[in-house]
Amino acid sequence: MAYASYACKFCSANLDGGDIFEVFLKKMEREKALKSAKVYGWSETNKIHFNKAIIVQPDRDEQYLICPYCKNKDPL
Ligand SMILES: [Zn+2]
Repeated sequence: MAYASYACKFCSANLDGGDIFEVFLKKMEREKALKSAKVYGWSETNKIHFNKAIIVQPDRDEQYLICPYCKNKDPL
């Protein structure tokens, strides 16, 4: 899922974790990085970024995201 903005809507912290392909490219060769990025839904026309929001998985309920800085729910 791509977001127009990576700023937390509560505390305005920057939750942009960087272009997914670029992040992988620093760790592995180009072809492998491209493959890995595509697993996350990244493509040449939809260059989505990682975000730093933390996924919380409760026992029974659906998972949700929290801001790592202010801990508010669904920061993006
Ligand atoms: Zn926040």
